[in-house]
Amino acid sequence: MADTLAEIRALIADVRTALEDESARGVIAEFGDEALPESIAPEPAPEPTRRTRPVVASSWARIADRGREVAESTALVGAAGLQAIRQDLGDCRRCNLCTGRTNIVFGVGDPTADLVVVGEAPGFHEDRQGEPFVGQAGQMLDRMLLNVLGLERREVHILNVIKCRPPDNRNPLPDEVAACMPFLDRQLEALQPKVILVLGTVALRALLGDDLRITRARGLWHERRGIPVMPTFHPAYLLRNPAGKRDTFADLKAVGVRYQELGGKRSKPAPKF
Ligand code: SF4
Repeated sequence: MADTLAEIRALIADVRTALEDESARGVIAEFGDEALPESIAPEPAPEPTRRTRPVVASSWARIADRGREVAESTALVGAAGLQAIRQDLGDCRRCNLCTGRTNIVFGVGDPTADLVVVGEAPGFHEDRQGEPFVGQAGQMLDRMLLNVLGLERREVHILNVIKCRPPDNRNPLPDEVAACMPFLDRQLEALQPKVILVLGTVALRALLGDDLRITRARGLWHERRGIPVMPTFHPAYLLRNPAGKRDTFADLKAVGVRYQELGGKRSKPAPKF
């Protein structure tokens, strides 16, 4: 009898795992039009211990509140803060990237957003339209936010480390990052997010340290000035390397859990997996 019960329990566990895998695979596929790599289907679930540090929700809430208090004591917040920073930026000529730009790409989204997404720099379409993440990579980002976190683009705030397009979409140089970073710092202070999602190596290094690599830093929680930060792959990288979608999906799921624990706003319930 005991053996039979054990077999039934094992069977139920197998069915549940299979259903969860099917559901997750459907969401990952929604990131883009490319077929999923073969390697996704049979892989075992990633080790949860590698991706998260055992920090309880109440600790994160205290950290986020502390960051919020510091920002409130030193600067204007929300829309007023962002407006003041944009005025200070003006027709910025603080680095050479000003010579080739069409528009300064300041940022877009809800000035009270609880999730801030930080990317690298404007590309061709962003430069033309003056808005971050509007090309193919931007469309993928929109799908990632909606399908995994249940958040519309308008419900988050999207920024770049660099506000003017580097020529030929090259990586920004250290002096360009140094010239532009103070404005990103101030934007983050004005926004006071509960969680920051960092996309790609340039943003990772600008926010968290020169020596970090995205392949090692992604999937782990970091902290910047009291705010939890999750790095993951840049959508432009995922367009070229669809195999990275599975890792990005896991990272975004972790963001969704933390976002919920910290009471992040959203207009509709998060998707279930
Ligand atoms: S990249 Fe930043 S610092 Fe350089 S000109 Fe543009 S806004 Fe100014």
